[in-house]
Amino acid sequence: MERELAAPCGLYCGVCGILMAHREGNSKFKERLCTVYNVTPAEIRCEGCLSRDIFKYCRTCPIRSCALERGIEGCHQCDRFPCGFVDDFPLPVGKKVILRAIPTWKELGTEKWIEEEEKRYHCPHCGYRLFRGAKRCRNCREPVDVD
Ligand SMILES: [Zn+2]
Repeated sequence: MERELAAPCGLYCGVCGILMAHREGNSKFKERLCTVYNVTPAEIRCEGCLSRDIFKYCRTCPIRSCALERGIEGCHQCDRFPCGFVDDFPLPVGKKVILRAIPTWKELGTEKWIEEEEKRYHCPHCGYRLFRGAKRCRNCREPVDVD
């Protein structure tokens, strides 16, 4: 288990397209994400929210700063969840996942929660690993809807 992938907001970094494309060094995958995130291929890089090499948007994320400043692992340890930072989250899919993931993280604890997130993001047709927000499986090309 990589603790650096446990983003405080609950958007588990292990299934983030940015991190996956970066680690795979997959330029086609990076190109596709560029249009989604409006960044250059060189900016598609990340080693996780809690690492030293963070995707440009996440570097300035108010949820991340809030958790780090208060010395908590994530929003699951906060009484104010879901607060204004979550309400204002810029991506609707991300917000939806945050609202699903944080209560689960609170219930299961970090280790089990990460296991659950890892299990969740797989293609129901062929079992291939999916990234969060994927519309189609990268292996069998079937439409998928996992969030
Ligand atoms: Zn598939």
